[in-house]
Amino acid sequence: MEKFRPDIYQKSIFTIDYNKLKKSGIKCLLFDLDNTLSSMSSNMPDTKTKSLIASLNDLGFRVIIISNSKKNRIEPFKDHLNVDAAANSFKPFKNKYTKIQKIYNLKDTEIACIGDQLVTDILGANRMGFTSILVNPISTYDFKISKITQILERKVYKKLNKMGLLTKGNYYD
Ligand SMILES: [Mg+2]
Repeated sequence: MEKFRPDIYQKSIFTIDYNKLKKSGIKCLLFDLDNTLSSMSSNMPDTKTKSLIASLNDLGFRVIIISNSKKNRIEPFKDHLNVDAAANSFKPFKNKYTKIQKIYNLKDTEIACIGDQLVTDILGANRMGFTSILVNPISTYDFKISKITQILERKVYKKLNKMGLLTKGNYYD
């Protein structure tokens, strides 16, 4: 169950202490797209997200979107946010993470992953030894998320809660 526990838990991408991450040696931020950077119903990043990503670029972070969605879903975000992006990533499997790590020549300790799902984003990051950061999903219910994922996600939450490892709304970093 430890593999599902995020290193950091924050309300949203806007409440993460990026300066602290920088100081701890993080050089690259891997963002999940759906329900992390954007709601699933919008096809374009909003202005608030745009300015956040711009400020992260200014801080010197390499920002990359890593998503299990298809390329045509990712592309407009990649263009408007001016970042790199990986589609069809099959998180939590290691393949895409390893590829990114090789391309950008990054150590495990230099990468942080930000996402809204324990069973994909957090498990994937933890398996790689990256810093894992959980945020609340932008919309709590979305018909596009598969039923199986939703059920699994709920089960893992329940279990972590029972073990005293994660409680909804008890943020930490
Ligand atoms: Mg997501």
